[in-house]
Amino acid sequence: MNKFDILIVGGGAAGFFTAINIAEKRPSLKIAILERGKDVLTKVKISGGGRCNVTHAEFIPKELSKKYPRGQKELLGPFHTFMTGDTIAWFEERGVELKIEEDGRVFPITDSSSTIVDCFLREARKHNIEVLTNHSVQDVGFDSAFAKLRISNKDPFYVKTSKGDFTCEHLVMTTGSNPKMWSLLQKLGHSITDAVPSLFTFNIKDKKIEGLMGLATNVTVKVLGTKQKSEGPLLITHWGMSGPAILKLSAWGARELADLKYQFEIQVNWLQFLTQEDALDELLELKLQHAKQSPFTYAQLELPKRLWHNLLTASGIQQATKWAELTKAQLQSLSRELTQSRFRVSGKSTFKEEFVTAGGVNLKEVNFKTFESKKVPNLYLAGEVLNIDAITGGFNFQNAWTGGYLAAQAIDS
Ligand SMILES: Cc1cc2nc3c(=O)[nH]c(=O)nc-3n(C[C@H](O)[C@H](O)[C@H](O)COP(=O)(O)OP(=O)(O)OC[C@H]3O[C@@H](n4cnc5c(N)ncnc54)[C@H](O)[C@@H]3O)c2cc1C
Repeated sequence: MNKFDILIVGGGAAGFFTAINIAEKRPSLKIAILERGKDVLTKVKISGGGRCNVTHAEFIPKELSKKYPRGQKELLGPFHTFMTGDTIAWFEERGVELKIEEDGRVFPITDSSSTIVDCFLREARKHNIEVLTNHSVQDVGFDSAFAKLRISNKDPFYVKTSKGDFTCEHLVMTTGSNPKMWSLLQKLGHSITDAVPSLFTFNIKDKKIEGLMGLATNVTVKVLGTKQKSEGPLLITHWGMSGPAILKLSAWGARELADLKYQFEIQVNWLQFLTQEDALDELLELKLQHAKQSPFTYAQLELPKRLWHNLLTASGIQQATKWAELTKAQLQSLSRELTQSRFRVSGKSTFKEEFVTAGGVNLKEVNFKTFESKKVPNLYLAGEVLNIDAITGGFNFQNAWTGGYLAAQAIDS
């Protein structure tokens, strides 16, 4: 039986961050990370398109917490102890220089996730943390037969892996969204919210966006029949629509859209906040100003030209028609297309830059001052194993860093 003071199950972002922060404060403790794969930090490596978006330049706890469709309330307190600014300082103190991009996302200046992976591996070595790969955890209990229910808070944990059994005083579960580990945590008394994908793009086939691949523009968008709506840049892709406005909808609406089996209708306002009546007024003005020109000659209302053309076509307007010849019905139809353009969404695609799962350990069962389970003393949970997820932009890693840091602090005290 391998005996450790602290075992961390899962060699990902939250696991390494927790292990390093404990080891720095308590060098005498024997700590190991148990990782089922042959490599650790695999998601960190592929994150942010290979650049690793470590956090986001949002320095007000309340504003930061608003980026979490699940976890908003629970993370507010923890962010007062460790948040984005602390993350930036943490990495910089360990030799990783970071930069803030225009949209607030924070990356290593090398633009390479290897910088973050190397930092974690270096720190783990420095602090004698044992990193045991190919150790898949299969069971956790309180005796060597994995049968006993806990009778005293001092009972050690028994951890069964594919390469032998371990015991420890403190157990940290940072296994991300592995359904088997959720079942195991269920066995230990936790309830689990079913997992559904978050952060995905919408599959749409529609003449109105044909040939517009790569076009980005600011919109407001809502899912018809629900309360889900968002605003921001929308990007037309090969498969349909992506960009912050869509990704936000996919995160906040993760569960509702799963219930709809990813078959629903959206309404896009290409003029963001203008109403159909406002748009009609603008069009009547344009009709007077450009009477002798075709509406196709110049894009109007600050819209990209290709989009403007597609919307004109969708409103039944011909190239040869002049502004002066547009009928009331055509102007009305155009004002509707500009502000209430409807699209049928049929399925979703994975957003390759960042992807998370909504679902996990019920947040009511965790003490957010310490990230300790309320069901099992000395068991800590951090990262995606919890029912916490964020919109895209570095916030998902921030959850892993914050949870890992607070768990380490609690174990140290
Ligand atoms: C393609 C992609 C890009 C992303 N980019 C970003 C980004 O740029 N910024 C951002 O903020 N977020 C990003 N994310 C989300 C981010 O990666 C996750 O939120 C984060 O990795 C969660 O960390 P974690 O430690 O909780 O889980 P994970 O990183 O998933 O780590 C869990 C670890 O536990 C191990 N494990 C599971 N079960 C067992 C077991 N039974 N025994 C032993 N080990 C086990 C797994 O193998 C894994 O190594 C991205 C996600 C993806 C998929």
